[in-house]
Amino acid sequence: MTDVKPRPLSDILETMPSKRAVDVALVTKAYEFAKEAHKEQRRFSGDPYFVHPAEVAYLLAQAGMCPESISAGLLHDTIEDAGTKPSVIEREFGTEVFSLVQGTTKLGTLRYRGLERHTESLRKLFAATAKDIRVLIIKLMDRLHNVRTLEHVPRAEKRIRIAQETLEIYAPIADRLGMSVMKQGLEDAAFPFAYPKEYEKTRELAKERKKENEKRLEKMEKDVKRELAEAGLREFRTEARIKGMYSLFRKLERKQWDIAKIYDIRALRIIFPTVADCYTALGIIHAHWRPVPGKIKDYIAFPKPNGYQSIHTTVYTGDGGALEMQLRTETQHREAQYGIASHLTYKETQVGTSGGARSLEWVRQFLPAWRRTSPSVAPSGAAVGSVPAWVKELARADALESASEKYLDTLKSDFFSHRVFVFTPKGDVIDLPIAATPIDFAYAVHSDLGNKMAGARVNGKMVALDTALRNGDVVEIVTKSSARPTRKWHDIAKTSMAKKHIRAALSAQQKK
Ligand code: MN
Repeated sequence: MTDVKPRPLSDILETMPSKRAVDVALVTKAYEFAKEAHKEQRRFSGDPYFVHPAEVAYLLAQAGMCPESISAGLLHDTIEDAGTKPSVIEREFGTEVFSLVQGTTKLGTLRYRGLERHTESLRKLFAATAKDIRVLIIKLMDRLHNVRTLEHVPRAEKRIRIAQETLEIYAPIADRLGMSVMKQGLEDAAFPFAYPKEYEKTRELAKERKKENEKRLEKMEKDVKRELAEAGLREFRTEARIKGMYSLFRKLERKQWDIAKIYDIRALRIIFPTVADCYTALGIIHAHWRPVPGKIKDYIAFPKPNGYQSIHTTVYTGDGGALEMQLRTETQHREAQYGIASHLTYKETQVGTSGGARSLEWVRQFLPAWRRTSPSVAPSGAAVGSVPAWVKELARADALESASEKYLDTLKSDFFSHRVFVFTPKGDVIDLPIAATPIDFAYAVHSDLGNKMAGARVNGKMVALDTALRNGDVVEIVTKSSARPTRKWHDIAKTSMAKKHIRAALSAQQKK
């Protein structure tokens, strides 16, 4: 028992962006409903179960998510863990909240089989299974709280699995969605459990350098502020950015564990009102400190694929070391932290101003001045050539629901062009080549299952063994002890693994 109390409703209501009476009422109702539904349950820590959904809802509020998402965060475990009937959620909270809860529940049943083979496929599957991008965000917050309370999970083996899964699947999804706060939160909570030795080694190294790095940052912060002010730039704020332990570990691996080669353990972030200020400041900084060659990156003119925008430069600090600086606007700062979630907020904060021109205005703020067009011109074609595709998709659609659908369609089309992902009846994911059949599926699970196969059910219906499987199919293999592989199976099978096992079984039969 760690004596943690569920986060009070007032914290969530004060943090969420909308203050409209209907939204407050919805979240309040979901809070009370979930509290009641989980009242008999406890977490591994011994704390009331409701601590968890209340915290997930608070994280969603912090990210600026809509009231429906926050309500779904409160309700996300009621169907699976508290036995609440789906129809009750739909009746009490409406179809939007219900579909978010249902989507989150469905993702919860997917299981993870082995790091090596399934990492990429699960990552893709997650993205594709969530029809609504908000489901993915709720799932990320759910995982963030679970991984932050991982020490209470009783079995070491399970802790390691959850931690590795977080690093391999959830953190990369957060990164893809541009949610750096989430990515670092997930990584730093999971790292000590997934790789304890590497974590200790990284921590020790970082500790050795801590004083030196802190001193350098402090001095540079003072000097830079003075230089900018002298040059007439007065409106800005600074903050220290400390690299996450996991990200430092990954970089140390790339640099042969030579920490002296890593300049951005601590970086200085300078946040300005306008893009023009960022470029002015870059000039002032480079005029006073020599930049490290090859370290200047203009992600404002050329945003990262996940939408990230900032100017990075590393300068020699004159004491034998160097320091990275990141220049950005307030808007870019919020966008860099919460990524796609900060776009979803748009709808909430702009009530009553729907329509094309307004949403184009919104895209324009992400563009450097030279790429902006008049507001009457649609954000397509050359004018916004290097705006990330997902931002374009969001901007083009009127309703955000269809926007996120389109975004996911894009994800799906590059992800699913060569593979199909199907499920075992227990929810394990099996990754197969396009046009694979139940025979391939059976041998992918286990050769014994293939060798004893008498038939197959897809989504509950018996099918012919040469049926091509499709994404999301649930495949069940019917076995019989007298069943034997045949030459025809060999012709039908698409994977070399299935063919190899069938040939072996056929030649064993012949010998008999
Ligand atoms: Mn949960």
